Amino acid sequence: MISGPQLPFPANEPEMLFCEGTEGAKQLKQALEHRDVVEIPAVIGGKRLFSNDVVEVRAPHDHQRVIARIHRPNETQVREAIASARSVARDWANLSLASRAAVLHRAAEIISTRHRVRINAATMLGQSKTIEEAEPDSACELIDFFRFNAYNAQKIHAEQPLSVATAANRADWRPLEGFVYAVSPFNFTAIGGNLTTAPAIMGNTVLWKPSEKSALANFICFEALEEAGLPAGVINFVPGEAELTTRIALSSADLSGIHFTGSSAVFQSLWKRVASNVGAYRSIPRLVGETGGKDFVVAHPSADVDALSIALIRGAFGYQGQKCSAASRAYIPKRLWGEVSKQLRDRLAELRVGDVADPKTFMGAVISEASHQKLSRVIESSKQDSGVRLIFGGKTWSDPGYFVEPTVVQVTDPRHTLMQEELFGPVLSVFVYEDNAWAETLALIDATSPYALTGSVFSTDRFALHEAENVLVNAAGNLYLNDKPTGAMIGQQPFGGMRASGTNDKAGSFMNLLRWTSPRVVKETYLPVRHWKFGA
Ligand code: NAD
Repeated sequence: MISGPQLPFPANEPEMLFCEGTEGAKQLKQALEHRDVVEIPAVIGGKRLFSNDVVEVRAPHDHQRVIARIHRPNETQVREAIASARSVARDWANLSLASRAAVLHRAAEIISTRHRVRINAATMLGQSKTIEEAEPDSACELIDFFRFNAYNAQKIHAEQPLSVATAANRADWRPLEGFVYAVSPFNFTAIGGNLTTAPAIMGNTVLWKPSEKSALANFICFEALEEAGLPAGVINFVPGEAELTTRIALSSADLSGIHFTGSSAVFQSLWKRVASNVGAYRSIPRLVGETGGKDFVVAHPSADVDALSIALIRGAFGYQGQKCSAASRAYIPKRLWGEVSKQLRDRLAELRVGDVADPKTFMGAVISEASHQKLSRVIESSKQDSGVRLIFGGKTWSDPGYFVEPTVVQVTDPRHTLMQEELFGPVLSVFVYEDNAWAETLALIDATSPYALTGSVFSTDRFALHEAENVLVNAAGNLYLNDKPTGAMIGQQPFGGMRASGTNDKAGSFMNLLRWTSPRVVKETYLPVRHWKFGA
């Protein structure tokens, strides 16, 4: 039953503009210039643990600059984190939902005010985001996750079975029995805040393994939750080596669920490990994973070319193409391609790649040396490939950071690997189709890639939009009509995909929260039956 204040449907956190000359811009500049190296401990049962197993975190656009040092916990400490999550589980579950929601609301206020600049600066430095990419992520979306998770939990708790004159029935929205293992990716600071607090608002306790590359911003998020009064042990910050931490977490009989966002390959490896161990768990662990994408943009011959080319630029190259939803394969009819390719070339020639602290920069660096090497290899081999034509870009350089120019390639074979595999970088592959091959092109899109995360359809013809929606029904969990395939907002476009893109549990919505509860239904009869014979 609900107790405590009734939360209204939350409004999305408004974006703060850090325009030159404003107080916000001044504070941001100072935070970016701050040269202190942050020591990031594991935090287990509220205790900060420093170790000798240290990993440096460097700014991808300036890789000589160390911004943080992660103190990785050892095997014993990971086990202690599990024990800590278990020891506080009953008390946390027994708190009213209103008390748990209050923690998230306070954390939202803390991020919205005193930690806003700090967490944005950490996201810019650690993940190489411009402020235009950091603010919607590490401030707005993180805050939205906190507020919407609290609101949606209330909505679930309000859902109750029918009671009658002779009996009362009630759903007791219990957490799962055990702990949830939350594993977050580098590319959105907000995701770590959601993977942990979605289970926590439903009463679960959590082990959080962040990505090393986003550990600084994620640690600030964790500190905001602590400041907001999150009791020790409810979320344990465990920035350990991925394999070791996962092996220990997944071998515990108390594992009740995995809340993962990252690549499809890693999620599949976790799934296999759980499957091979399934008899050893106290419950059947819930597996929730939002994973990779090879997101499409398809233009009908009736498409608005200006809107299309802007959507391709923003969708493919925002945050260097390192969004799971980034446009990475496009299908353009022959009759539009001349104008679209001209607009792409003209506009991309103006697009600045470089230091994210410079307000004129549109694209920073890619996340790591490994990613840079992979993208450089793919681009170089495309240049040698007779089936690929370079339309724009193609340069990469690794000093002072891991930079890749926005790159557009045209393929002659629509099933080229460039149209199928997730590259996770600023490379857009285009297939130009015959103007009368709209229906075949839709079928091709559906069958080309194993992923099904996001997609966009551009057309001014209502019948064409309708046809695309039908044919592509299983090709994307989030479909956009006349818009870029990125930029989902919490509460507006619940996010997630199918096929190799994950379990489609719609992050930030009530659907995701349902995975973290195991309801008990209690019936109380007022007048027990006193005869064993029917009709007596
Ligand atoms: P990743 O799979 O490399 O890492 C994700 C997390 O898994 C990190 O915490 C990492 O340390 C951990 N990890 C890595 N190897 C592991 C292993 N062998 N065992 C256990 N844990 C391991 O992904 P990433 O590079 O951080 O993020 C990019 C990927 O995430 C892309 O594929 C992108 O599409 C996907 N992504 C998907 C969504 C979505 O909502 N669908 C959102 C963001 C990112």
